[in-house]
Amino acid sequence: MEINVCSSCGGKVEFSPQDKALKCVNCGNIYPIEYKQQVVKHPIMDYSVSAHLDAWHKENRAYKCKVCGAQVTFNKYDIATNCQYCHTSSLMPLKDLPGFKPEKVIPFKIDKNRAKDEFKSRVLKRKFLPNDFRKNLPTTDMGATYLSAFNFECFVSASYKGRQRISSTERDRNGRTRTVTSYRYFSGNIEKQFDNLVVEASDKINQDEIASILPYDFSESYDYDNKFIKGYNVGYYNQTIAEAQEVAKQDALHQVEQAIRRKYSSIDSLTVNPTYSNIKYNYTLLPAYFVNFSYKNKPYINVMNGQMGAIGGKLPKSPIKITLFVLMILLVLGLPILFILLAGG
Ligand SMILES: [Zn+2]
Ligand SMILES: [Zn+2]
Repeated sequence: MEINVCSSCGGKVEFSPQDKALKCVNCGNIYPIEYKQQVVKHPIMDYSVSAHLDAWHKENRAYKCKVCGAQVTFNKYDIATNCQYCHTSSLMPLKDLPGFKPEKVIPFKIDKNRAKDEFKSRVLKRKFLPNDFRKNLPTTDMGATYLSAFNFECFVSASYKGRQRISSTERDRNGRTRTVTSYRYFSGNIEKQFDNLVVEASDKINQDEIASILPYDFSESYDYDNKFIKGYNVGYYNQTIAEAQEVAKQDALHQVEQAIRRKYSSIDSLTVNPTYSNIKYNYTLLPAYFVNFSYKNKPYINVMNGQMGAIGGKLPKSPIKITLFVLMILLVLGLPILFILLAGG
């Protein structure tokens, strides 16, 4: 049975990361959650499921609040939001979703109270922050949101060939040094299993931004239960499963290429022919905090992993600090050259 309000005091209930349960924000009453890990990844059964998403995303929807009866407006991407009147959590009936339904959830681990401190301490470790920004870090509210993502697994078997460019210095008969370049050709096969290729599928952030806050620990991903998302914003996905699968393949291919590049030094050209097999996925909700702030009238959006704490997005940088840093590097690199020039001259 769905729990909309606290049964003892009528207060608002929210998922509490600290208690790993649904909790009344008013009296602290706890409603336990059954943590199940039965749903596994599966092949893509139907590529056309998302076909109606475009039309669906074009409009807002209204539902009657189960607590106060008022009409709750769901922003066109939201599938969970708070009632604008009584502020209790309101979820769209899953049967009304035009496409896939969430299958797994990684619950928030960093709670809303800790999120701000966690964010600040991580931001302060970043380089080149302007001093006035450091002293007065953004304290805007952090939006706690579950991101819709497709989590893929696949097996990649690839053949590759490439060329290494090897440079060496030789001394000629007159004692002068010269650089000799030679090439070495290589080829081989590589096989790799990927278990968690995360493809961000909502309109909230892009693939680069999600990559900047990875990894998530998928050993803590549980079968979807709406108790996990009570009190949080949840955005529906906005990308077809076919598009998402391409992103996952690209990610896998990129990692295969990196593995080859680690094996051979100075690669000058590389061709990889991958075959992907056993592609499976599931639709997982990932916890994230959004931090919006402006600095010197410029808007910034940052995002923080709500489970592991990694932060992503752009931060203000001090031009003076960067200039000083570059000058220092130039000085360190430049001095030996200056010595060589002076010694040689
Ligand atoms: Zn209560
Ligand atoms: Zn209400």
